[in-house]
Amino acid sequence: MCAPNVMAKVASEISRRKFLGLAAGLAAAGVARASGHEKPKPAAFTHVQDLTHVLRHDFPIWPGEDERKLKTKTIYTVKENGFFLRTVTYSEHHGTHMDAPAHFTEGGATAEKLDAANLFAPLAVIHIHERAAKDPDAWVTPDDILAWEKKYGPLPKGAFVAMHSGWERFANDQDKFRNMDASGTMHFPGFSPDAAQMLIEEREIVGIGVDTLSLDFGASKDFKVHLTVLPAGKYGIENLANLAKVPPAGAYVFIGGPKVEGASGGPTRAIAVW
Ligand SMILES: [Zn+2]
Repeated sequence: MCAPNVMAKVASEISRRKFLGLAAGLAAAGVARASGHEKPKPAAFTHVQDLTHVLRHDFPIWPGEDERKLKTKTIYTVKENGFFLRTVTYSEHHGTHMDAPAHFTEGGATAEKLDAANLFAPLAVIHIHERAAKDPDAWVTPDDILAWEKKYGPLPKGAFVAMHSGWERFANDQDKFRNMDASGTMHFPGFSPDAAQMLIEEREIVGIGVDTLSLDFGASKDFKVHLTVLPAGKYGIENLANLAKVPPAGAYVFIGGPKVEGASGGPTRAIAVW
């Protein structure tokens, strides 16, 4: 069968109406692409990096929350029952965990309601570990974001922006991780309110992450970063690990957040691929 015959046969089998419908669909798809709702996706990856600390009872937690650290109770054992099963209780904000919008927003989205499409995102890592090594009150500034963009290009649409301060080196020592002074004020890095505002108002992100106990820096009294990011419907991830092991640009992150009904957040498995 020669090509013109094939074309004639196909044309006779597709009604004009169907053909027009198909054309309209293709045009609509083109419009959706052009409207900028889609974020870049990886074609393939060769590296996988876990960004999650092991959740254990003695992992550092926010002051006053010690009572709500992870507790486990063995109910059945393979030896006695033929299978192993435990119950666990923990604060929703222990270990590597998510802050859902509802954590700081009355009526905000709880963790299980977050769009799954926003839990897979281009990962941008902003390094402030050199500054943080000298100054525990160091924070991510708008200039840090601009410097990242100067080096790697505009922040991708739907990015997850993570701060690497090097603070995870204290994750085995709660006192050092909290770094509390005599007045009870903590000192560890976080995002500055100005950087959070810039990311929410001038960029298109799905969330932000830190390798410390809080999205806000430790000395914050007003939690302005939480109050900028979460009410905007974005999520935060605290106590991330291994951010120095992933490229600052070009990786993607999967946020295995909790799907617990009504959750203010919860322990989360974060995995980067590139
Ligand atoms: Zn939290």
